[in-house]
Amino acid sequence: MLAERGDYATATSSASSKLIHGGLRYLESYEFGLVRHSLVERHQLSRTAPHLVRPLEFMIPVTAHQRRPAWLVYLGLKLYDALAWRKNIGPSGRLSAARIAKLPLLRKHGLKSVLHYYDCQTDDSRLVLALLLDARQRGADIGNYRDVSSIAGLKDGYRVAFSENGARRTVDALFVVNAAGPWVNSVNRLCDAPPPERAMRLVRGSHIVLAMPLSGQQSAYTLQNSDGRVVFTLPWLNNRYLVIGTTDAPHHGDASTAVCSDEERDYLLEIYNRYFEHPGGPADASQVISNWSGVRALVDDGDDNPSKVSRSASYSHRAQGTGGFISVYGGKLTTHRILAEHVMTQLARLGAQIAPDWTRDAPLFGGRFNREELLDLAAAGPDTLTEVTRRRWVFTYGDQTEQLYSAIEANPSLLREIAPGISEAELIHARTMEDARSADDFLNRRTKLFIELTPAQHKKIAGWFGN
Ligand SMILES: Cc1cc2nc3c(=O)[nH]c(=O)nc-3n(C[C@H](O)[C@H](O)[C@H](O)COP(=O)(O)OP(=O)(O)OC[C@H]3O[C@@H](n4cnc5c(N)ncnc54)[C@H](O)[C@@H]3O)c2cc1C
Repeated sequence: MLAERGDYATATSSASSKLIHGGLRYLESYEFGLVRHSLVERHQLSRTAPHLVRPLEFMIPVTAHQRRPAWLVYLGLKLYDALAWRKNIGPSGRLSAARIAKLPLLRKHGLKSVLHYYDCQTDDSRLVLALLLDARQRGADIGNYRDVSSIAGLKDGYRVAFSENGARRTVDALFVVNAAGPWVNSVNRLCDAPPPERAMRLVRGSHIVLAMPLSGQQSAYTLQNSDGRVVFTLPWLNNRYLVIGTTDAPHHGDASTAVCSDEERDYLLEIYNRYFEHPGGPADASQVISNWSGVRALVDDGDDNPSKVSRSASYSHRAQGTGGFISVYGGKLTTHRILAEHVMTQLARLGAQIAPDWTRDAPLFGGRFNREELLDLAAAGPDTLTEVTRRRWVFTYGDQTEQLYSAIEANPSLLREIAPGISEAELIHARTMEDARSADDFLNRRTKLFIELTPAQHKKIAGWFGN
């Protein structure tokens, strides 16, 4: 069973850069194993969740005054290609002068070269949901809004207490896996027989969102800053928005207090304006339409520079009679499946009966169709839905879009729109199939429609959910 105290993916897992990537910059800290595993997982995820993982071309502008010269970045990209080996999306390279000249808005003054490579973009909260719904389909008891309040050691295993719908429940479990991200040590402290605690450091990463300055822009950029960090600019939501991130700031206090500070916003705007012309003058704070901030929970290895702390996951465990407890520290969205396999291996060492690994090629929930088949499904949908909605649905719900089409066919009154582009059919699906309980759950994590709606339309959705 799974207990999540908020909504699924309510914390770090909806505040990421939304990339399924090898992590080009980890080559600099010689984390070749992490990069190789991540690149293999990137390939697997683009096959097992094609509705949620799409390839994206990244440009790396290189100017005369950067710490990393063009030849070094080029070598890094070739190593990245080699580590992906047969699982590569496409070869990296150097753009021709003709192609550079056509890159819209990129400042050409002082530009020595533009390199390019491929990674993938995802919808982080839906990726988490796809995993959970898959587990539910296979018999797991998955629940959001279940707040774990105590974990008591028994002779064998643990008694876990949690609240659900205002009631207190307990469950006896031989094995407990603490995957509470930045709260891993707080959850350890709910237990009277926890595994050894590891020192952690919390590193905040923020993103800001602008309207896409020029329509039709499709490329992402990896920008090198003078402090040695890299910042991404990412086209988002059908290229209508531009995400700029991320920062690496030490975070003090509870992870739930993470917000994008004015300094972080200005840092991101500064690097963006240094590389790009913005129609009507440099982008400023008034043009930031949204932002988010998440906290990386990294094992403290004593490095002063937060960007350099390893992104690899690590574990702590303890046997409890014939049962046991495992705490997970760190990790990445991209490598979640490998992380889960490590946890299973450790559970087996603690005595759990574990079936052989099977997840590598198994489609995630909604992931039975490839991207071409998804486009066909969008085209074949009822013409009572707009093309925009049909396309949004297939790249949100994947093969489950068929269920939505059937619901509408059986009961056309479900086409009633509660807000522009949001039919009652979709809200019912979110509530009954995906456990959404509020407008926030639906608009921020089941979809990203929060960014499209006015406060009045947001209220209408809240009204529908009864909150
Ligand atoms: C800024 C930033 C950018 C990133 N970008 C990327 C990226 O592009 N690609 C990538 O692969 N990775 C990225 N990562 C890493 C990735 O986002 C994280 O590794 C991943 O989301 C961590 O997931 P998690 O489940 O461990 O933590 P979380 O998503 O934080 O989940 C922990 C959950 O535990 C719950 N919880 C806490 N206490 C309790 C309790 N008592 N009872 C029940 N539940 C409880 C919380 O509510 C929370 O939802 C990024 C991370 C950050 C911070």
